[in-house]
Amino acid sequence: MSDSEVLDSVETFLHRRLPPDEIRRRDAGHVPPYDLMPRMGELGLFALAVPEAEGGLGAAWNTIAQVQLKLGQHAYMVASIFNRVVGFGLMSLLTYGSAAQRRLLVPPLMSGEVFCALALSEPQAGSDAAAIRTRAVRHGDGWLINGRKSWISDALQARWLIVPARTGPAHEGRPGISLFLVPTDSPGISMTMLPKIGNNCMPSFDIGLQDVDLPAHALLGEEGRGFAHLMSTLHYSRASMAATVTGAAESALQIALSHARERVQFNRPIGHNQVIAHRLADMRMRVDLSRLMVLHLAGLIDQGAPCRREAAQAKIIATETLREVTDAGMQILASAGYSAESDMQRLWRDSRLYTFGEGANEVLRDTVARELQLGSRAGT
Ligand SMILES: Cc1cc2nc3c(=O)[nH]c(=O)nc-3n(C[C@H](O)[C@H](O)[C@H](O)COP(=O)(O)OP(=O)(O)OC[C@H]3O[C@@H](n4cnc5c(N)ncnc54)[C@H](O)[C@@H]3O)c2cc1C
Repeated sequence: MSDSEVLDSVETFLHRRLPPDEIRRRDAGHVPPYDLMPRMGELGLFALAVPEAEGGLGAAWNTIAQVQLKLGQHAYMVASIFNRVVGFGLMSLLTYGSAAQRRLLVPPLMSGEVFCALALSEPQAGSDAAAIRTRAVRHGDGWLINGRKSWISDALQARWLIVPARTGPAHEGRPGISLFLVPTDSPGISMTMLPKIGNNCMPSFDIGLQDVDLPAHALLGEEGRGFAHLMSTLHYSRASMAATVTGAAESALQIALSHARERVQFNRPIGHNQVIAHRLADMRMRVDLSRLMVLHLAGLIDQGAPCRREAAQAKIIATETLREVTDAGMQILASAGYSAESDMQRLWRDSRLYTFGEGANEVLRDTVARELQLGSRAGT
């Protein structure tokens, strides 16, 4: 399939299955679009990232980024599902899963039957992810896991959780962490939904893990290399988030533009006021810059070039663009945006998550700064 055929099929799917009223209905009713996943699988969307040798379509990341931009522009709720399957689940398995794990999980992930959720964060371990306390100990041939995870998105619907747990002594930090593939129906798992202010179609859960008994083959990747494994695929999830929130920012810009053309005050469209025209011009420039960064990063991924800094930059630029564009959009729409029925308020509420979720921007700026070779601090 050519890129334009892929994008056309995405466009048709979105307009048929998620028209604007349906998006609003789902957001108001907190109804995630899990039911759309099999159709996305049939369209081959989840197979894009999988090499042909593993039964996929072997598409370039540039194609995937364009799909993500489109999904994000139409509805973040469906883009986040795509990212969970492609940017996280499939790329993790393809990068460090065993042949047996790939045989078991890749086909149902590609068909949209199932997905995996990442259960990393804990009450005391947010930005400082290496501070996790969930522990896995050897138990016969397998493992026993105990601990607690917080804010795990889509966990109840996921078939598997990817659970980072401590297998070495606490003082070892990152090297003492391993990854486990944990079926969500394992005895000993309990989930409590957390109330929140946005992303209504992506429910989040607090998870208890009590004596969860796992076979030896639940270990994902190498023992003690869990943190390194997560780092090795971060650029995919950051690229995914950057693309989808850039799509969402384009959507906010288009809503603001229509309103500025149509809303008349003092006998002229409000967009004829220079202050509003300039605000829209700034929004246009920010969204375009964000899109360029997304496509630049996709190009680096396709070349297999190192891109840790660019992935951090793309995530920072895109998420701050969305936050600023939706904030400006709310000002331009004024009461029309403040209405619970407006699409702008949904984008504005949802946008608040992304500057700290999936790596807080303050911490990502450290990643960028580290590559500026500033030298070590005096006395350290
Ligand atoms: C809706 C939602 C969905 C989520 N989904 C998932 C999920 O699916 N899986 C998962 O594992 N986690 C998930 N999370 C957790 C998310 O990844 C964390 O919220 C994020 O890592 C930030 O951690 P924290 O909220 O504990 O903030 P903290 O780490 O406590 O940070 C608080 C503030 O301090 C700043 N800060 C912290 N350290 C530094 C530093 N060294 N330098 C400068 N500033 C610093 C941060 O930038 C932030 O502004 C989700 C969270 C939410 C709200």
